[in-house]
Amino acid sequence: MEQKLRIAIQKSGRLSEKSLELLKECAIGFNSSYLQLKAQSSEFPAELLYLRDDDIPGYVEKGIADIGIVGLNVVEEHEVDIEIIERLGFAKCKLCIAVPKEVDFKGPQDLNGQTIATSYPVILGKYLKEQNISADIHLINGSVEIAPAINLAQAIFDIVSTGSTLMSNGLKKVEDVTSSEAVLIGGKNMPADKKAILNQLMIRIRAVLAAKGKKYVLMNVPTDKIEEIKQLLPGEKSPTIMNLAQEGWSSLHTVVEETKFWDILEQLKGAGAENILVSPIEKIIL
Ligand code: ATP
Ligand code: ZN
Repeated sequence: MEQKLRIAIQKSGRLSEKSLELLKECAIGFNSSYLQLKAQSSEFPAELLYLRDDDIPGYVEKGIADIGIVGLNVVEEHEVDIEIIERLGFAKCKLCIAVPKEVDFKGPQDLNGQTIATSYPVILGKYLKEQNISADIHLINGSVEIAPAINLAQAIFDIVSTGSTLMSNGLKKVEDVTSSEAVLIGGKNMPADKKAILNQLMIRIRAVLAAKGKKYVLMNVPTDKIEEIKQLLPGEKSPTIMNLAQEGWSSLHTVVEETKFWDILEQLKGAGAENILVSPIEKIIL
């Protein structure tokens, strides 16, 4: 039977949609919805397993799944012996310590002797040890933010993205401990045939990631302004220059990060650039 790469993704949650989207951008679609536990791809030798995110690191470590997409925070919390193959750039968040907003917090040492509620006892335990703090960790598996209000703890350690949940629970962030994003993880002892499929997948994933946030920009420029305009282009190697039919004008093509493009637009126009076209890029293979 043909070998298939088993990919574990979160069944339903913050990572699910983006994980499927990334695979789709790699031209790998799956035949069924997450209502089933497993799905097959007809376009690529891969099989999808839909799991709770907390189960993904362990399944990959045991080789039940070959690779998985999960938050770095969950990988670190489970202390598994796996490889982090690639950071995927989505589901970015921070894990922070927060205390009631009226507390006059002077620094991590103020946590000595306190109780801290969290769903991440391993990550928190390591941090406290590093900081030489002796505090009690109270494990809660959800709604950690209410712990101080109900006198379960004096502080919490949890995921913070915008801080609005903290605020609505009367808390304030006092320490950033670590940050997280979705990562692609793999087992350490993958058989050679699976590894060959993984290599194919990684070429596609890296090409998709390399194109994120980048635009293909074309513009007409006065030929005698090419050098000046090249200096404005942020960090690009060598733009493509072609002659236009109209004497004294050239077409310049380059790849730019979209955010940087907006920063230099006025300067480009000031240097004489016209008819600027901005197009999406699907993939970049370096
Ligand atoms: P499951 O039911 O699979 O156990 P869960 O409730 O534990 O799901 P989610 O809330 O879906 O997990 O979050 C999954 C991951 O998304 C987290 O482990 C974290 O890496 C990331 N994440 C969580 N909250 C945020 C946030 N507010 N902003 C950005 N990323 C987040
Ligand atoms: Zn979970």
